[in-house]
Amino acid sequence: TSDSTFWGKFGVHSEPEYTIFWEDGIMSGYRHPKSSALDCILSSFQMTNETVNIWTHFLPTWYFVWRFLVLSYSLDFCRDAYYWPFLAYMFLVCLYPFTSSCAHTFSTMSAHARHICYFLDYGALSLYSLGCAFSYGAYSMPDRWVNSTLHHYFVPMAAFNSFICTSLSCYSRFPELECPRLSKILRTLAFVYPFVFDNIPLFYRLLFCFGDDCTWNDTIAGYFYHLLFALLTGFLFASHLPERLAPGRFDYIGHSHQLFHICAVVGTHFQLEAILWDMHLRQAWLSAHALPPTFAQTFGMLSAALLGNLLIITTFTCVLLRASGTNSILQSTVPEVAQLKEQ
Ligand SMILES: [Zn+2]
Repeated sequence: TSDSTFWGKFGVHSEPEYTIFWEDGIMSGYRHPKSSALDCILSSFQMTNETVNIWTHFLPTWYFVWRFLVLSYSLDFCRDAYYWPFLAYMFLVCLYPFTSSCAHTFSTMSAHARHICYFLDYGALSLYSLGCAFSYGAYSMPDRWVNSTLHHYFVPMAAFNSFICTSLSCYSRFPELECPRLSKILRTLAFVYPFVFDNIPLFYRLLFCFGDDCTWNDTIAGYFYHLLFALLTGFLFASHLPERLAPGRFDYIGHSHQLFHICAVVGTHFQLEAILWDMHLRQAWLSAHALPPTFAQTFGMLSAALLGNLLIITTFTCVLLRASGTNSILQSTVPEVAQLKEQ
């Protein structure tokens, strides 16, 4: 099969301007780096090294949408403000796998398209972190932290984090060719930092809290599995295992990015179930002790974060387009620039 794909035909390193498409430890199954949009869509039904990446986030998107629709029959999302943070969380849970599957589908249209696709992917992931903060802030805070300073500023700080992390992860694409290590560290940091921040209430509940007001309920197992899969997700992202050990062996099925997608989704599934439990089990107590979420705190904040992140992505896209031909981030434009100069 590798003969019918791009680098199968042209040889792995014969096209230096396409270096940015090259993935560590994956030797074959590449699509043409200048595919049309239609080719990209059709390629999701052919076996390339991106096919499983596309489907491992496309199908879960519809699983989460279905989960949301079922819940919307039993929970009054429109009128009961108690459920609003969950609504925001659910929207962002559906958004991140959808954006990711689109990014993987259209990433081989051009070098520009590839960067922009992943800018959007990173933005959606940052926003998912904000979604976690919405839910944790509303339903998962340990009893003794409810109405504390951290509780009040938890979601605004998470929104601020999403700006920092989208910027950092988008920026990490620029030094990718010259300093791959720095790029990887920046990108990993951009995802680990909001994860650690969001999970402060959980870490406290799981590890440091002893006593009656520690909210030790049936949800703890769900959060535990969520954290386990999140750890595994981070490990796969950073390690590039197993393909690093056996380059070429896992090109189509089983490479780290596919496993990373699956772990992320399974982790989100456990998180969603645990949040649902907390939301139901603690409804009476939280309604009596915490202030109800307001429309502005929830949907105002969500809109501001969406707009802010889009603005950051637009800015990086402009920087990218301006850097055309002068920056190695756009290697594949080099031949075009050369052609233009000849004309
Ligand atoms: Zn991905």
